[in-house]
Amino acid sequence: MKFETLAIHAGQEPDPNNGAVMTPVYLTSTYMQDGVGKPRQGYEYSRTRNPTRLALEKCIAELESGKWGLAFSSGMAATDTVLRLLGSGAHALAGNDVYGGTFRLFDKVLRRFNLDFTFADTTDPESVADALSPSTRLVWLETPTNPYLRITDIRAVAEIVHAHRNRPLLVVDNTFATPYLQRPLELGADIVVHSTTKYLGGHSDVVGGAVIVKDKELADKLYFLQNAVGAVPGPMDCFLILRGIKTLPLRMDRHYENALAIVEFLEKHPKVDKLYYPFHASHPGQKIAIRQMKNGGGMISFIVKGGREAAIRVVESTKLFTLAESLGGVESLIEVPAAMTHLSVAGSQLDVDPSLVRLSVGIENKDDLIEDLKQALDKA
Ligand SMILES: *Cc1c(COP(=O)(O)O)cnc(C)c1O
Repeated sequence: MKFETLAIHAGQEPDPNNGAVMTPVYLTSTYMQDGVGKPRQGYEYSRTRNPTRLALEKCIAELESGKWGLAFSSGMAATDTVLRLLGSGAHALAGNDVYGGTFRLFDKVLRRFNLDFTFADTTDPESVADALSPSTRLVWLETPTNPYLRITDIRAVAEIVHAHRNRPLLVVDNTFATPYLQRPLELGADIVVHSTTKYLGGHSDVVGGAVIVKDKELADKLYFLQNAVGAVPGPMDCFLILRGIKTLPLRMDRHYENALAIVEFLEKHPKVDKLYYPFHASHPGQKIAIRQMKNGGGMISFIVKGGREAAIRVVESTKLFTLAESLGGVESLIEVPAAMTHLSVAGSQLDVDPSLVRLSVGIENKDDLIEDLKQALDKA
């Protein structure tokens, strides 16, 4: 079946007990057993398994062209659980433009457990090859990245990583693209990670994460960790993400349509210095983006002339774009990454230009959005 059909039906069937069309929210922590050691349909305890969560896990697995999906209580919980596949002394290589929270977890928390990290420019496959060491067990990348929307050729990096001794795992955080635009497992990745808080949920009303794999052995290790560590989402959260996913293709097409109109407006604006958008002709990764993504998505970053003060004046002057962190919801958001989402990487090699503004373009009417940006830029 095609993606749009899977988004609505994958993992979800009318409830066998009563025909409920929407997946019921199974608010239960435990399940009656038919005898000692005889759980019904494999359900014993909801940290281990819950029917609402299982529907979400099956759905995301199919959407990502994987075989097994795991849901988590946040994107960071998903990330942390994946890193627990490694043992003390292992080396992991990560992109030098990864999500700020991912950098913080790697650099400030996991280093204390004797994991070693190198941050490299994954947009250049050669620099990935150079940064691999004999103890490298995992390579972590995002494409497009946040906030510079840099593009990495997933297939090229997968080939390099898998040819290396010990065959490190290639993990792709697919939060920005979503499986509608890009499916890393089809391009050679071993693991896909999501913050479902963003486009998959799509309505800024839930925090969640997900992991998807195609290999049974890897899935078993991750299911063990999911249950042993316990960073699982509640059934209501799973329901909300399932509901969000049903309209993912429609939303992503509209995010793109609006983003294109805004890019066209910004590229001509005298107060905009530099534009970052994967499908724009000025983007160094445009060719790769067009090859591995269905469309350019809804995230745009740009440098405002006049530095930090001007950027802050713009984001404080919009009326329709809400000044807020996060992204991927139906409503448009605006922020200054250096002072907000990326504060945790200030002074590090992931440092962000203080005059950079990031937009999460929503699905409102594009003329209203452009009108709002116009009046805000006039104040810069
Ligand atoms: C938000 C985000 C995360 C973290 O997810 P949470 O749900 O906030 O824990 C990880 N990666 C990317 C790319 C994100 O945007």
